[in-house]
Amino acid sequence: METREFKTESKRLLDLMINSIYTNKEIFLRELISNASDAIDKYHYLSLQDETLPRRNDYEINLSIDKEASTVTIKDNGIGMTYDELINSLGTIAKSGSAEFIEKLKELQKDKENNEINKEDIDIIGQFGVGFYSAFMVANKVIVKTRSLYDTKGYMFTSSGENTYTIDEIEKEDSGTEITLYLRDKTDEYDYSQFTDEWTIKNLVKKYSDYVRYPIKMLVTESVPVEGKKDKYEDKEVLKTLNTMTPIWKKNKNDVTDEEYNKFYQEKYYDYRDPELHILLNVEGKVNYTALLYIPSAAPYNLYSEKYEKGLQLYSKGVFIIDKCKELIPDYLRFVKGLVDSPDLSLNISRELLQKSSEITDIATNIEKKIISRLQNLQENDFDKYLSFFKNFGINIKFGVYDDFGMKKDMLKDLLIYETLNSDKMITLKEYVKNMKEDQKEIYYASAKTKDAVLAMPQMDLLKKKEYDVLILPDDVDEFVISILEEYDGHKFKSVNQGDMDLLDKDEEKRIKKLNDEKKPLLEAIKEALKGEVDDVKISKRLTDSAVCLVSGDGVSFEMEKVLKQMPNVNENIKANKILELNSNHKVFKAIDEAYEKNKESINDYALLLYNQALLIEGFKIKDPLKFSEMMCDLMIKSNK
Ligand code: ADP
Repeated sequence: METREFKTESKRLLDLMINSIYTNKEIFLRELISNASDAIDKYHYLSLQDETLPRRNDYEINLSIDKEASTVTIKDNGIGMTYDELINSLGTIAKSGSAEFIEKLKELQKDKENNEINKEDIDIIGQFGVGFYSAFMVANKVIVKTRSLYDTKGYMFTSSGENTYTIDEIEKEDSGTEITLYLRDKTDEYDYSQFTDEWTIKNLVKKYSDYVRYPIKMLVTESVPVEGKKDKYEDKEVLKTLNTMTPIWKKNKNDVTDEEYNKFYQEKYYDYRDPELHILLNVEGKVNYTALLYIPSAAPYNLYSEKYEKGLQLYSKGVFIIDKCKELIPDYLRFVKGLVDSPDLSLNISRELLQKSSEITDIATNIEKKIISRLQNLQENDFDKYLSFFKNFGINIKFGVYDDFGMKKDMLKDLLIYETLNSDKMITLKEYVKNMKEDQKEIYYASAKTKDAVLAMPQMDLLKKKEYDVLILPDDVDEFVISILEEYDGHKFKSVNQGDMDLLDKDEEKRIKKLNDEKKPLLEAIKEALKGEVDDVKISKRLTDSAVCLVSGDGVSFEMEKVLKQMPNVNENIKANKILELNSNHKVFKAIDEAYEKNKESINDYALLLYNQALLIEGFKIKDPLKFSEMMCDLMIKSNK
């Protein structure tokens, strides 16, 4: 016998499990059954690739309970573990998620202590895949007997959840693993003996492990008719399969309720919420496949972190192949969960080659199209649900439009919805165009978080008067999306604060052109005074009430500049052109015009004052606030003389 120490992380986890106030202790069974099923999957997969391995068709997971000894045993005939694997898998937590798991568990514990929430339903154990240790929630001793497919010897691992465990060499006839849990004594809070109850185990299997692809068998006591004696029954032990096995995606759509699809999702993807929607595809074509896809009703907490792995599970004829086949789902749909089962996949090639096969590419293209069309459908038929989807994942759709230089923009553009100035609900681009004013040519947009912020923009003066609707863009990626889209239905996109506006009637247009010529010396003088700060100074075609505003030239906008500046490795010289626009109908314009005529020098101060105002309105910092404030004071004193 050899005694070894658990690794530090494992100790902490064990300790947390043992002292856990986590009430959902029953999930230990699901975790161990799932490990058993994984081990059989591995055996099966290997045997397909390795001719020398014995093929078998007697895969099974066997459960047994012993009331007297107070034990539960879970046995599989899967791949088993070698000595090294035993130590590496059960004596160490190799999983990167374990540290996070420990944090989560602690948080949960704290919340519970403070009676803040009741999160019993939240399955954090499943989320982090630290299944084996969950045995210690119900057991004070665990014995694992295992023999690897590649080994002639077997090993026994024994642990009481303390700092050490022991390993012994044992005789074991068959490859596979047998885990025996010695249940804890009943306490006031918890009755551990329930797990030696046949009925409890049967229910737990139904609840958590019904779709496990291998039979989960148990000897159960049944009342059977006594042979030859009418109406006489006796109790007999019968080996029964407790799970249905037929995977839900193979069942006829009409035989499965939405609740069942949702339950499957919750159990498989460890979400305590119902999904937003599920999509079942049965495709017969060049490649045949069944796919069961889910769109969650909330973004996973780590969706945008590097650790998040997108992908769908891949099965062939119900046999599990790969957990996260990332080739099956494009990046922007990374939030989609689900699986694909196809009989047309060759299992005899390596997983790497399989993932790059043309069958997988075909399935992926097809799945993407189906998801998009289903979302389109949702938008048209259940807008509230769509809205909820878009709140969670709209940003992903936007990335999809922008990605790959807009390759998919035509497919995705109608999924975009925006808040707008004139509408109380979010609308599509199609709706925007439909509602455009008769004389309106372009689709206007403004980058802002709220409607009020857009309304307060001086650049909106004339647009407000004309009652043109304006798309409100809240996200960093939005302007990039717009620039990739370029136009919708023949209408170009137009920023309210970028480039020239084309909103005036002919007379007014002429008047401004003339004024631009007439006042050229004044405008040039202001430009000269603001040299290095602005690229141009113009009489505005968009201001009616405000005195000044800043706009950017075509190309890079202010918003894009802000976003790009936050990104690493972006060229420092990427800058928006700044154009200062003056309202020729404003009293201030007349005032500085006159002041300039009287004293050419005075323009320097006025220019700076106007420019600083425009900067402040735009939300930029001004260069020299102290000087600005002194100039304001001077002005006030002067005007009072
Ligand atoms: P996970 O299953 O998420 O990897 P576990 O803590 O449940 O985490 O198990 C750790 C590892 O122990 C597994 O990845 C597997 O390699 C091994 N293992 C657990 N149970 C079995 C089993 N019944 N047969 C073979 N290997 C197993």
